[in-house]
Amino acid sequence: MMIRDGIYWYREKGPFDANTYLIKGDITILIDPGLRAYLKQRIRELENDEINRIDVIAVTHLHPDHYDAIVGMKEAYDAKVALHISQSRYRDMMMEEASRFFCMSFMHDFHVDMEFRDTLRLGSNRELRILHTPGHSPESICIYSPVERFLISGDLVFERGIGRTDLPFGNEAELRDSIHRISMLNTELLLPGHGNIISGNAAIRRNYEFIKRFL
Ligand SMILES: [Zn+2]
Ligand SMILES: [Zn+2]
Repeated sequence: MMIRDGIYWYREKGPFDANTYLIKGDITILIDPGLRAYLKQRIRELENDEINRIDVIAVTHLHPDHYDAIVGMKEAYDAKVALHISQSRYRDMMMEEASRFFCMSFMHDFHVDMEFRDTLRLGSNRELRILHTPGHSPESICIYSPVERFLISGDLVFERGIGRTDLPFGNEAELRDSIHRISMLNTELLLPGHGNIISGNAAIRRNYEFIKRFL
């Protein structure tokens, strides 16, 4: 569903409660396609919102609940898969570990069409800033719009929660540092990788104050 002009949120109705976001610009980007099991449902939801073009697919990090449907989504829309340079660097390591840690059927290799660093330009009308925010995993990123002030936080922070660091390659000190950095951003809309979204600067501030107690 559309939550702001050109910003869409799709919530998995399965056990992971993972979120997919779509930002429409001259170029339309989908972030975190989710699990393959929900691909058909997600495509239906996109169709209901009259979205029939996706140009780029990106992920906040390489955990299966976020990237598993990447190949199916790419095929459905003839989209390009874009990874942050840190995600390319850690990709083999993360995929290998996912197959061991989660279950073999998650193992799903995909072709990467392009790489990005600290910005993602969606044509002339939208530009996103990319922050490398390790901790939950070494290749986690947050996606921030300085103009519209939304922040896609992946599994770094949630409503009343922080990302776990007990998964392979998690790092508590890095998580703390990453949360500290994103909490400095002027944010009006927080779009986490799981659960509810938070709108309004004051509510987001309160959420940071709450979660900093866990750090
Ligand atoms: Zn994760
Ligand atoms: Zn997750």
